Amino acid sequence: MTDEVLVRADHICKYFKIGGGRMLHAVEDVNLSIHRGETLGLVGESGCGKSTLGRTLMGIYRPTKGRLIYDGKEIDLSNKKERFAFAKKAQIVFQDPYASLDPRMTVGSIIEEGMAIHNLYDAKKRQERVAELLDIVGLNREHANRFPHEFSGGQRQRIGIARALAIEPEFIVCDEPISALDVSIQAQVINLLHDLQKRMGLTYLFIAHDLNIVRYISDRIAVMYLGSVVELASSDELYTNTLHPYSKALLSAVPIPDPQQEAKKQRQIIDGDVPSPINKPHGCAFSSRCPVACEKCRQCAPELKEVKPGHFVACHLVD
Ligand code: SF4
Repeated sequence: MTDEVLVRADHICKYFKIGGGRMLHAVEDVNLSIHRGETLGLVGESGCGKSTLGRTLMGIYRPTKGRLIYDGKEIDLSNKKERFAFAKKAQIVFQDPYASLDPRMTVGSIIEEGMAIHNLYDAKKRQERVAELLDIVGLNREHANRFPHEFSGGQRQRIGIARALAIEPEFIVCDEPISALDVSIQAQVINLLHDLQKRMGLTYLFIAHDLNIVRYISDRIAVMYLGSVVELASSDELYTNTLHPYSKALLSAVPIPDPQQEAKKQRQIIDGDVPSPINKPHGCAFSSRCPVACEKCRQCAPELKEVKPGHFVACHLVD
């Protein structure tokens, strides 16, 4: 990881119209930076806005408010030419390797498609590149002529990774890339992503709900709750010095491999359901479930502040 910021979210909001004049606030005022060569983990409960933020940072969604800065330059996603150029730099590996590959296309055509769209290389060179990418992700060159249904889940995810790498991106959003895979092959895919990062200097936003995996692969981790980042720190700092009440509850649910320590662990249960992103609580979004909420929490929303070098928290009770 370097000190150079590659991707920056500057007060990014993403809202969706849902009819009746109402808006779903999927992402709310997110500020964060991802450094070149870094893996930033993004965690939180289902529906907290992780995938929407990931898709906004790689240009699938246009922010409703705020700016997306890439390599020091604001990306205007309403400009077709700029959006197309940005698509070459930022790619995504989807959660579901079954749904994300077109069953009518051969593996070779799936991997080659991005190169053709971006007019990279001649036909012969593209074929060579497909073969090279299949080698890189641990598949056979002969697999180029087969169809997705002929592969296992882990192999399909390798095809998805080869497709993402085909146009030589710098930034990859890994959107729960192992959640749909058997536990036995999750580690293989994680190790592959890790090796590719070292080899190609890639930058990852790694979205996941398995907190042990996120800790293993990430340099820093951001915790999201109801569309906002509530805590951000290096992986070790977040796990050893958790400060936000929501992060504490989330991390207390992570199983410890040692059965004795696991038996002694105090698990913090969060009462109630996640509030609707259509009708968020006033003040701190976590105030309706927070065990230590006070009156101030229900009046005004806390800002994400740096409470010690590199450790940011959005909570009135942490400073
Ligand atoms: Fe809990 Fe208040 Fe902190 Fe929000 S600001 S997390 S409600 S203590």
